[in-house]
Amino acid sequence: MNAPLNIAMPAEASQAPKTYKLLIDGKHLDARDGRTIERSSPGHGFAVSRYAQAGAAEVEAAVQAAHKAFESGPWPRMKASERAAALLKAADLIETRLEEIARLDALESGKPIAQARDEIGGAVDIWRYAASLARTLHGESYANLGDSMLGVVLREPIGVVSIITPWNFPFLIVSQKLPFALAAGCTAVVKPSEMTSASTFVLGDILLEAGLPAGVVNILAGFGADVGAPMVSHPLVEMVSFTGSTRVGKMTMAAASNSLKKVSMELGGKNGQIVFPDADLEAAADAAVFGGFFNAGECCNAGSRLIVHEAIADEFLRRVKALADKVRVGDPLDDRTKVGAMISADHMAKVAGYVTAAKTDGGSIYSGGGQLASNAGQYLDPTIVRGVTEDMAIAREEVFGPVLSVLTFETIERALHIANNTPYGLSAGVWSANIDTCMSVARGVRSGTVWVNTFMEGYPELPFGGYKQSGLGRELGKRAVEDYTEEKTIQFHRGQRTGWWVG
Ligand code: NAD
Repeated sequence: MNAPLNIAMPAEASQAPKTYKLLIDGKHLDARDGRTIERSSPGHGFAVSRYAQAGAAEVEAAVQAAHKAFESGPWPRMKASERAAALLKAADLIETRLEEIARLDALESGKPIAQARDEIGGAVDIWRYAASLARTLHGESYANLGDSMLGVVLREPIGVVSIITPWNFPFLIVSQKLPFALAAGCTAVVKPSEMTSASTFVLGDILLEAGLPAGVVNILAGFGADVGAPMVSHPLVEMVSFTGSTRVGKMTMAAASNSLKKVSMELGGKNGQIVFPDADLEAAADAAVFGGFFNAGECCNAGSRLIVHEAIADEFLRRVKALADKVRVGDPLDDRTKVGAMISADHMAKVAGYVTAAKTDGGSIYSGGGQLASNAGQYLDPTIVRGVTEDMAIAREEVFGPVLSVLTFETIERALHIANNTPYGLSAGVWSANIDTCMSVARGVRSGTVWVNTFMEGYPELPFGGYKQSGLGRELGKRAVEDYTEEKTIQFHRGQRTGWWVG
C-alpha cells in the first residue's frame, strides 16, 4: 500500500472563493434571482470560485444583446484588419495573464499546473492564428459565365453563435471556437462548463479590455438544462458550436433542428494507438503512457486503447508499466505533477466502475487499479488493463479516466478492424518504422486525425474533428473562420436582358 498523497493547501484555501458575475451586453451582472454556483477544487477540496448562476431570463438578455450587437453594432461592419487588431490585443493580454488563467484552470479542473500553462500558451497561439485568418477570409468571383454576367460569392458572418464548452480543457476549447467566430464578424453567447467557468470569465474581461464592443461576447455560467438548452433553441441564434459528450451532442443537435441551425460538434473519442514490432518501442511506450494518462485520461483524444502486436506485447507492456510507475500523480499545483485530480467524485466512481466491470468480463489489472488515498481531493492510480476484448464496455465506451486498455493483434487487417470497431472516430496513432505499414493504417483508420510515430500533437494550422459519432465539422485549420460564415451568391447582369421569359 502506497503512502497517502500529501496534498499541500494553497494560499487560496484560506481565502473566500473568488466571485464571478455574468457578462451581458458589456455589463457584469448578478443573476436576477441571486442564485450562484460554487466550485470546489477537486485536487484540494476547498471552495475556489463562486459564479452568478444564469437561467432562462439571462439567456434571453444575452441573446438579445448579441443580436443587437450583430444587427446594428460596429463589430460585423468594421474592417477585418480592425477585428484582427482586437484579437491580437486579446492574445497579448492572455499571455500577460497566463499564470493567473492557468492557475484557475488547474484549481477548478484538477489538471497539472505545468500542463495548464502549456494549454494557455497554445490558446494564445490560436488567437493569433485566428487574427491572421480574419484578414485572409474572402469569397470568390466568376467572370466565366458569359459576357453579360459576373458571379460574386460573399462570405458573410452567420450571426449570433452559441458556444458551449466542457470542463476538461476550459480555456483551450473556448479558444478553438470564439476567436474564429469573432474573426468572421459574428457575435456570441458563451456557456462554459458549470464546473470550470472562471477562466472563461477572465477571457470576457480581456475581450472588453481589447476593445470588443458591448454585446459582442456574452458569458453565462449555468447548467446544461437551464442555460445550454435555451441557448440552443433560441430563434435568434444562427449557429451552435458545441464541445462535449456524444450523448449531450445528440440532444443538442436534435434541439437545434427545430429552427435548422447550423451545428458544429466536437464529441467523444475511443482512440487507439497501434504498435508494430518494428517501431521505436521506447518512444512508443512513452506515447502510450502519455496517451493513456495525460489530463488523467479526461481527454477526448486519449489513446485509451493500446493495440499492440502479439509478438511484442509482453516486452512492450513491461516498458509501458515501468514508465507508468514513474508518472507523478498528485497536487495539481505542484510543477512536477503529470496526473492531477479527477474532476468529481461521481466521475471517479464511474471510471472505477469500468475497471471493475472489465475484471468481471475477463480482463486483468496489469498496473495500478484504484483510488489513491490522500489527505484531500480525489485521485486515481493510472491503470493498465490487459486481456481486453473488443466487446467489453471498457473497449467500446469513453472511460474518460487514467485507464489504458490493452488489446492485441497479429495482422495489420486485424489491427485496423480493432481500431475501427467503435462508434467513435476522433483520432488514432500508429507506430512502425515501415512506411507501407504507417500509410496503410493512416489510410485505413476511420478517424479525423491520425498520428504517425507521434501522438496528440496539435497545431492551429491543422483541422481537428471527428468521424462517426465523434462529431460534425472541423475546428482549426485555414477554413475555421469560414465555418462561421454564410455564403451569399450575387449575380450581376449588364446590358440588355438576355433569355427573355415571356418576350
Ligand atoms: P457534457 O456533454 O456533459 O457537457 C458539455 C457542455 O454541455 C457543458 O457546458 C454542459 O453544461 C452542457 N450541457 C449539458 N446538457 C446540455 C443540454 N441539454 N443542452 C445544451 N448544453 C448542455 O461533457 P463534459 O462532461 O463537460 O465533457 C466531457 C466530454 O467532452 C467527453 O465526452 C469528451 O470526449 C468531450 N470532449 C470532446 C472534445 C473534442 O474536441 N472532440 C474536446 C474536449 C471534450
